[in-house]
Amino acid sequence: MLYLSTRGHPDRKRFCEILLEGLAPDGGLYLPESYPQIDAATLAKWRDLPYHELAFEILSLYIDDVPADDLKAICRKTYTQEVFGTKEIVPLKRLDEGFYLEALSNGPTLAFKDMAMQLLGNLFEYELARRGEELNILGATSGDTGSAAEYAMRGKKGVRVFMTSPNGRMSPFQQAQMFSLQDANIHNLALDGVFDDCQDIVKAVSNDLEFKRKYRIGTVNSINWARLVAQVVYYFAGYFQATRQANAASKVSFTVPSGNFGNICAGHVARMMGLPIDTLVLATNENNVLDEFFRTGVYRVRTAADTHETSSPSMDISKASNFERFVFDLVGRDAPRLKSLFADQIAASGQFDLSRDPAFAQIRARFGFVSGSSTHADRVATIRDTFKRFGVTIDTHTADGVKVAREHLTPGVPMIVLETALPIKFAATIVEALGHEPQRPAGFANIEALPRRVTVLPADVQVVKSFIEAHCA
Ligand SMILES: *Cc1c(COP(=O)(O)O)cnc(C)c1O
Repeated sequence: MLYLSTRGHPDRKRFCEILLEGLAPDGGLYLPESYPQIDAATLAKWRDLPYHELAFEILSLYIDDVPADDLKAICRKTYTQEVFGTKEIVPLKRLDEGFYLEALSNGPTLAFKDMAMQLLGNLFEYELARRGEELNILGATSGDTGSAAEYAMRGKKGVRVFMTSPNGRMSPFQQAQMFSLQDANIHNLALDGVFDDCQDIVKAVSNDLEFKRKYRIGTVNSINWARLVAQVVYYFAGYFQATRQANAASKVSFTVPSGNFGNICAGHVARMMGLPIDTLVLATNENNVLDEFFRTGVYRVRTAADTHETSSPSMDISKASNFERFVFDLVGRDAPRLKSLFADQIAASGQFDLSRDPAFAQIRARFGFVSGSSTHADRVATIRDTFKRFGVTIDTHTADGVKVAREHLTPGVPMIVLETALPIKFAATIVEALGHEPQRPAGFANIEALPRRVTVLPADVQVVKSFIEAHCA
């Protein structure tokens, strides 16, 4: 399998080459040259596999430069009951007739990002050892991504993590999760500033090419193809569970609480491979840049001032970093066209308009996409309603999904809402909705009282660089 750039760069690369890279050299995103096609016989063969074997079957279609036995071992080591809490890894919870939650949030940091990041940690360790190289991951987080990265990379040979976050601005639970890690290769840098300051500093360090090369600086952001392909697996696992009783030809739909379009892009890939997905329902919060596109055909990037701070904060985005992958397929993989949309039109006017494009008219029929959005009041009402009717407490992001899913139900087609976090991570809104604290999973009692390993620094590029230099010996 070879990978190309959405913006038409002539080079083709193999999986392990793009594993440690971010953007392609021309600023595009990597995608496989074609999507492997899965027929009904293969689906039937995969139906009863344990999750780690299903993961191996799917990943091996995209990764042909790691020996099969090694990839098998990496999958077995990653997707264990010990790490993800159940034998099924992503069990379906039935709420109503034909209406399910798929539990993706029982990994170490209680959000779905663990599903991919845990695999990435093991792939990084494997590939760096094979090359005899080291990597220093520099990132900025306001919550879920940073902690998922740290829990995936802790104790891994050849990898250090330098994670910046805005001092005092993450939820107490999120701070406790990250700062309680005592591993020598994990460095928490709480910067006196806001999230945008952290992100600007990470960009400034990465733009210093000499520093970047000398200290082997890398990232783990959501445009990494390895993260995306790891997420494809749970769409298959959800489909198999929801169709266990029904006849094998039936379809399912998924609703995905979305921010950077990483999670639902994996659903798009699964559908392109031939997984019988009827509808992919994209749910946003008040930051509805993607809902606007799927309703109108206009993609309009927001400014920082136009990006709302909401009670589903992991979906508070101004532009969706993985969206370019879907648009590439939408415009028939026409790289010059794609480049003019993202590199020229977005740069010039902050938007593009596909409303009159024949491809956009096909977005539901050919690609299965519909969308909707949710507000704080919707979230609170949905959390309350779900608790009252089913005795289940859902987190704020999942609530956005449940709210929008209900607007797109088709009789006879099971609807699976992806549960992207557990409620304990966003306790304040749960208390607002239900009047009591959400349950704490075992092992998280009192984590706020654990000793902390964090360095508070001014939001200054030079200070962060000096910290990295001092800790890379
Ligand atoms: C990251 C995240 C999302 C958004 O996922 P994308 O892949 O960015 O669309 C939704 N919910 C939670 C809880 C998250 O952590």
